[in-house]
Amino acid sequence: MRGDGVREIVVVSGKGGTGKTTLTAALAVLLAPVCLADADVEAANLGLVFPGSLTEREEFWGAPKPVVDRAACIACGRCLDVCRFGAIGARTPPVFDRVRCEGCGVCIDQCPVGAINEEVGVSGWVETVETSAGPLVQGELEPGEDLSGKLTTRVRQKARAAAERAGLDLVLVDGPPGTGCPAIASITGASRVIAVTEPTLTACADLERLFQLAGLFDLVPDVVINKADLNWSADAELRSLCSRWRAPIAASVVYDPSLLGWLQAGAPADELPSSLTGLETWVSMELMPRLER
Ligand code: SF4
Ligand code: SF4
Repeated sequence: MRGDGVREIVVVSGKGGTGKTTLTAALAVLLAPVCLADADVEAANLGLVFPGSLTEREEFWGAPKPVVDRAACIACGRCLDVCRFGAIGARTPPVFDRVRCEGCGVCIDQCPVGAINEEVGVSGWVETVETSAGPLVQGELEPGEDLSGKLTTRVRQKARAAAERAGLDLVLVDGPPGTGCPAIASITGASRVIAVTEPTLTACADLERLFQLAGLFDLVPDVVINKADLNWSADAELRSLCSRWRAPIAASVVYDPSLLGWLQAGAPADELPSSLTGLETWVSMELMPRLER
């Protein structure tokens, strides 16, 4: 879509494995041209569907972590005693485990000779890739780093800038699963939220938490029920839950083994699987007109 101002549609799910990326890829095809953002920074995979050429790679700097000055350390063992996270190995001088370290800084305060300093390291990257579907901005967090909310926010910022550069007024965000800090970072200030769910009882509970979270931001998600035909009684539960929360059901997508092949082929627009026909109708009849208002 083109026009004034950049709007964001964020696709989320109460938990992983509901088909969120599949539905995001389908929406990307139906909404094209659009700027894509993969804010699922712990498992970014939209780039597997829409590969392209890298145009920008930015380092993401995380929280400061301690490093020991080997020459200054007197091997007193005080830092081992005070670390409550088991992040310091019993060696001389001590060795710090960056994954376990929570960055509390207690060891720095407690070292009697000031031998521990803080050092900021690279915790991840934000890449911009030019794809057949439009610009794709994707985040990648180093294993063990815990700043996914902050990186999610950076991915969204970069995607908005990429959209403006490309003259696009819509960013489609593949958000992180769950309802924690990264999910909050992904929906704050979003124009619309689409929740992808599946017919299981645990998915009902996850979806309700998502409704509660979205409600804090005055958002009511549109719901896509994936694999709707796999459990009709859970599907009925989901529909009842959506009704209670006044959340519209955008589309039901039946289980379709051909979707995987379609994604592996790069989600070609002229080969849209028939299982996505309901989603296509909703996008053209409801979502697009609402976005154009
Ligand atoms: S900063 Fe805190 S968590 Fe990290 S090593 Fe020091 S005491 Fe342990
Ligand atoms: S507290 Fe300081 S001096 Fe003592 S072992 Fe740790 S780094 Fe070395």
